[in-house]
Amino acid sequence: MITKINDHYYNLTDFKHPGGDIAISHAKNRDATILFNTYHPFNKHTILKRIEKYKIDEPKTNKIITPKQFKFDSEFSNELIKEVSIYFKHKSNKADNTKWLYIYITTSLHIISLYYFILGYQLAIFIEPFLAWISSVNYFHDACHFALINNDFINTFFMYHAMFLSQPYDWFHQHNLGHHSYTNIKEIDPDSHSNTMTKTIVKLGKKYNISYKPILLFIWSIAVYDLLFIEPIKSYINNYYNNNNLLFDKNNTYIAICILFKCIYVLVYLIIPIYHYSFPLCLLYVLISRSIFSCLFMTFTQVSHNQIILNGNNKDWYKHQLLTTSNYATNNRLLFYLSGGLTNQIEHHLFPFINHCHLPNIQPIIKRVCKKHGVLYIEYSTYQKAFNHYIKYLLT
Ligand SMILES: [Zn+2]
Repeated sequence: MITKINDHYYNLTDFKHPGGDIAISHAKNRDATILFNTYHPFNKHTILKRIEKYKIDEPKTNKIITPKQFKFDSEFSNELIKEVSIYFKHKSNKADNTKWLYIYITTSLHIISLYYFILGYQLAIFIEPFLAWISSVNYFHDACHFALINNDFINTFFMYHAMFLSQPYDWFHQHNLGHHSYTNIKEIDPDSHSNTMTKTIVKLGKKYNISYKPILLFIWSIAVYDLLFIEPIKSYINNYYNNNNLLFDKNNTYIAICILFKCIYVLVYLIIPIYHYSFPLCLLYVLISRSIFSCLFMTFTQVSHNQIILNGNNKDWYKHQLLTTSNYATNNRLLFYLSGGLTNQIEHHLFPFINHCHLPNIQPIIKRVCKKHGVLYIEYSTYQKAFNHYIKYLLT
C-alpha cells in the first residue's frame, strides 16, 4: 500500500487505520496529501510522527497519481483549524443523540414505506422516495465521510443502506476523492463536470426558445441513474471515475458488491412493480417514484457549488473551498433536517469528517476567522436566492 503525503512516500501495508481498510484504501497508489490533511487537521502532526517508520524512498515501480495540489499551512488555515479544534476539545465530532434519534425514526418510517411500495400501494409512490431521501441523507453521506461514529463496523454498516442513491465504493470516487478534494475543478470534480453539461443543454434550449424549467426538471428527474449506473459502470471499464480519479483496489470484492446492490435495486424498484401493474402503469409507478427521489437529491445538492469562479485557482485549499462553496438558509431548521445539514455546505467542505449535527455550532467560528483574514464567505439567506444564483450560472 504505497502512498504519498506532503511530498514524502510511505508504505502503509502494515499500518492499521482506525477507520478500517476502506478508509486507508482511499490513499492507495495516489497522492493522499489532500485526504490526509482534510481528514486529520486536528492531530496531523501526531499522526505524521506515528507513520514516520513507514517512510520509503520514491518507488520506481509504483506510479503515484498526483493531480492538482494545494497548500495546507497558511496563517489562515492554521487559525481556522485551531479555533475549530478548541470547540471539539471536550466533545465528540460524530453524531449526537438527537441525530441518532432522527436517523432511527426516519429510517424506520422508510422501511415501512418500502414495504408498502413493494406491495404496490399507490400512495407509496410519493411517500417512499421522500422518506428514502430524508433518512439516507442523514446517515449515508456522513457514514461515507467517516463522520457518523468512531466505530469502523457501524459506520460501514450505514454506508451500505442507501442502494437507491449510491454504493460506497462508487461514492468514495465520485464524492470524497473527486468532488470534495477538487471542488469545482471541472476535469476532476464529477459534480462540476455534470453541472457544465447541464449548462450546455440549458443554453442550447435557450437558443431554440425552450424554457430552462422543463429541461432542468427532466435532467434532475433522471440524474440519479447517472450516479447509480452510468458513471460507475463507465469507471469499472475505464479504471478511472470521471476520467481522472483512479479506482482503488479494482478487481476485488468492492465492485462485485456494487453490482450486487445495483441488481437488488433493479429488482425492488423496477421488476417487483411489474407484478402489481400492467407494464405502462408499472412504468409510471417506477418513473414517478424515482423522479421524486432524484429531484429531491438534486434540489438540495446542486445549489451550493455554482460560483462563477469555476476553476478557483487559490493554492490554499481552505480558501479554495470558501471561493467555490456557499451556504443557504442556515436559519431554517426544517431545511437543515430535510437536507441532512447540506445548508451548511461551507462548514461541511472545510471539515468533512465532522458530523452535520455540529456544523451550525462551528459556523460562527468560521465566519469570524474568515472576516479577520478578509476571506470571502458566501451565504444566501434563503434557498430561493441560492437557486436563483444557480439558474443565473446556467443561463450565462
Ligand atoms: Zn460531502
